[in-house]
Order: sequence, then structure tokens, then C-alpha cells
Amino acid sequence: MFTQVELLPADPILGLIEAFNQDTNPSKIDLGVGVYRDELGNTPILKSVREAEALLLTRETTKKYIGSHGDPLFSQQMLPLVFGENSNVLAEKRATLTQAPGGTGALRLAADFIKRNSPEKTVWISNPTWPNHFAIFDAVGIQHKTYAYVDSDTNRLDFPALLADLKQIPQGDVVLLHACCHNPTGFDLSKEQWQEVLAVLKEGKLLPLIDFAYQGFGEGLDEDAAAVRLLAEELPEVMITSSCSKNFGLYRERIGAFIAVAKDTTDMEKVRSQMASVARANYSNPPAHGSAIVATILASQELNTLWRSEVDEMRNRINTLRQQFVVALTPYGLAEKFACVAEQRGMFSYSGLKPNEVAQLQKDFGIYMVSTGRMNIAGYNEQNLPYLCEAIASVCG
Ligand code: PLP
Repeated sequence: MFTQVELLPADPILGLIEAFNQDTNPSKIDLGVGVYRDELGNTPILKSVREAEALLLTRETTKKYIGSHGDPLFSQQMLPLVFGENSNVLAEKRATLTQAPGGTGALRLAADFIKRNSPEKTVWISNPTWPNHFAIFDAVGIQHKTYAYVDSDTNRLDFPALLADLKQIPQGDVVLLHACCHNPTGFDLSKEQWQEVLAVLKEGKLLPLIDFAYQGFGEGLDEDAAAVRLLAEELPEVMITSSCSKNFGLYRERIGAFIAVAKDTTDMEKVRSQMASVARANYSNPPAHGSAIVATILASQELNTLWRSEVDEMRNRINTLRQQFVVALTPYGLAEKFACVAEQRGMFSYSGLKPNEVAQLQKDFGIYMVSTGRMNIAGYNEQNLPYLCEAIASVCG
């Protein structure tokens, strides 16, 4: 069998990492990779995580299975983080959470759940999006189509086109929305725009699947949850996939959650039963370490405060780098062209750089980013910012 198997090309991002590692340019900068980096270029373990792990080492008494829904304490702590302390949805017992191996695992649970229960539904995904969205729905055999998101001529959010596309979606279909920090563009919807999207979802009886991978990386932990909370309060049914990879820096621990909000507790219990079955068929039980860390941090006042300050620090660093980028391009007359970078949110930016400019940055300056012009903002720092901007000015000139 193996001889007949097709050799697949490597993921383009992996190719980029490989090329970066082999580049001997001492000034090289990696803006491709999808993890947060501090000013030294490291992706450190958060202090709150280290302290929680130290506690766990003394407290842990067993390695037995944690159950298909995962750790109940994780669920108990995560739900208020997502919906807010005074959420009606939680008070009405309309939400259920199933722990998953990362945001990716949560998306896979969502995809399997849709496939099992409504295989005829199409999932509508923003163009562009995180490429794995397509791969996940392809893997379970769910049809997907795209809705407009960015005007490629102006490199701005094309909200009228987005809204027009959403209005065309057949009743009952699923719409995948990025809660905040849209990956790959960094363009988020304003409060007013979310209200308009909500109206279209209501009108079209569409089912939102909200990908919430960057809570805390945009404007703040509560601010970033505003759209999730709005849709959950206003719509009878909502699905959310949450990730703790970025905001807890727990990338390799694989911890996230699938959350469903149903119209009432009876429906919620039905969905919950389905999720246990879907999780069992995939991996039986989720890994325990990541959820134990998150639950320990969120449940401790001291660690929670420390963690929140660490999330603030990561977010503030990214948002400061965004401002500094535009300021540093001002002497080259490029501030207006790249003004969007200061307005975008999250780790990623659609810079507006064209594929030939991206290729030249790589070849002549050792600056690596995805060919679409997507930059990881946390990939540069105050030291190499002047070099980056000089290089950009030279390829855009
Ligand atoms: N969704 C989006 C938009 C992402 O960017 C990512 C990670 O890059 C994920 C989901 C999944 O993250 P993870 O599986 O690492 O938690």
C-alpha cells in the first residue's frame, strides 16, 4: 500500500521555517511562525503556568482518565471566562463545554458534530481564513464555501461585501466567524458591525460557529469576548471553539474547548451527549495536563491576577509594536500605506505587501513572511524594527 501513496508537499509555513533556519543572514527576521514571541524572540512559559505546574506536581494524586468532557473544574472556570461572570446564558444553564485538544481539536469536534447531525449543512468561512479551517471540514466531508472579508485592492475589511454575502447564505447553514484577532488579516469587526451581523444571522436563521482562539490578544479578555457574549445572548443556538494555546502560552499542551449554547437546558443536554460520543470516537479522553494548569490558574485569585497581567503584557507588546511599525515607516512616506497595521488586532497582520515584495524581502533581507503578506507582529522587536522598515521601504519604493 505504502508504495502507491502520494507524497504530499510540506505545509508552506514549515517550508518557510526551514528556509529561515538555513539562512545565514545575521539580521534575518522570522515573521511567519504563528506563536507569540517576547522582545528576546522567545516564547517563554508564563510565570502563572510555572507556578500552577509546581502546585500540580504536589497536588496530583492520579493519572486516571478524566472523562470525555474533560476536567469539570476546567469547564467551571472556562465558562465564566468566555461568557462573563454575570452571564444569563450560564444562569439559564444553556451552555455546555467539552474540553478538547486545542482549538483545532475543538473545531474537529464541531465538524464531527455537524456531520453527524446535519450533514447537509454548508459551513461558510471568511476569505481569507486560517487554512486549517478548510482542512478540518474537508477531513469530515462537510461542504464549505467562503464569504467576502477583505478588499484585496485596498487591503481593508470589506464589510459591505461581507454583509451582502452573509445575506445570501441559505437558511440554517453554519457561519464560521472569528471572535477577535482575525487570522490571517488582523481585521476585526466593530461593535456596530457585529450588531449588523447578528441581525443577518437572526434573519437567515444561521448557526454561528465562533472561533475564539485569541481571547485577550486584541483589546482585553472581556472586550475580546464581546461578540461571543452578544451572539450567545441573542441567538437560540451558538457554537464556540476556544483555545488556551495563545493566551496561556500552552501551545504544546493541547488545551481548548468546544462550547455549545442551546435554546434551553433540554437541548443543551442533547448536544452534550453528542459531544461525549464524538470525543470518544476521536480520542476517548482529552489530555489532562493543560486543563489542570488552566483550571488551577483561573481558580486561584493570586494566579488569576498574575495570569491576567501576563496576558495584558503580551497584548500591550503587540499593540505597541503595531504603533511603532507605522511610526517607523513615516520617514519613508509609507505611514498611510501601512496605517492598517496599527488598526488591526491580534498577532497577525495582512500587511498589504504583494507576493513579489514578500519574495524580495526574503531574498535580499532575510525577512520571512507568508506570501500573502501576513506578518506575525510578535516576530519583530524594537531592535530590528528599523532594519525591517528600511527593507520594506526599499521593496515598496
Ligand atoms: N483558530 C485559529 C484562527 C487559529 O489561528 C488557531 C491557531 O493558530 C487555532 C484556531 C487553533 O489553535 P490551537 O489548536 O493551537 O489551540
